[in-house]
Amino acid sequence: MSNNPQLPHAMPAVQRRGILLVISSPSGAGKTTLARRLLEDDDDIHLSVSVTTRPARPGEIDGKDYHFATMAAFEDMRDSGALLEWATVFDNCYGTPRADVQNALDQGQDLLFDIDWQGAQQLAEKMGHDVVRVFILPPSAKALGERLAARNQDSPKVVAGRMAKASAEIDHWAEYDYVIVNADVEDSLDKLKAIIAAERARGPIAVVKDGCPFQQ
Ligand code: 5GP
Repeated sequence: MSNNPQLPHAMPAVQRRGILLVISSPSGAGKTTLARRLLEDDDDIHLSVSVTTRPARPGEIDGKDYHFATMAAFEDMRDSGALLEWATVFDNCYGTPRADVQNALDQGQDLLFDIDWQGAQQLAEKMGHDVVRVFILPPSAKALGERLAARNQDSPKVVAGRMAKASAEIDHWAEYDYVIVNADVEDSLDKLKAIIAAERARGPIAVVKDGCPFQQ
């Protein structure tokens, strides 16, 4: 019986499942900055750290930005089913460790995935309702070109390749649940936070019958 007669004693305790927030974009649309800002501002969402065969860029930390792996180690993970999704992007392999995602979901924790359209498709197929896909578009092709040219962490050949592949990535924007045109980082961050707030409140959520706080 409830100690407080005003509370309905059949009130269920609800436990939210973690959401799997995927953000994709062509290189240079500002996705990495948005992801970093979101992770700084929101303690309840954590980055899903991917495995990659790409060499680390200056400043990147193994285990924080990526798990940097050899091709042989990547293939071992892929072949043993340890990757929830994987894809080849710009001649390198990238994949999402399955165990990290399961742990986060079990704890009702939200995860952020900075992955490409191939990964977004695979994740949506496998994880269904828990996946929320957001596509970040640059405000214009000109702006995209300028942002890519301003980056000097990669060789000109790599930058040219990324420009060529940007339109192929953009072709998939309509497969996403939300689209943000990133003309202004603060404005885009606000939109991203609004999407997350709405998705966190969206049903169905798990109903916990035992351990209801109102049924003492
Ligand atoms: P970068 O090498 O610039 O960090 O990433 C290149 C591309 O690979 C980006 O579009 C990024 O979103 C994507 N990517 C990073 N990790 C993963 C992953 O685990 N799976 C997939 N499918 N794509 C990834």
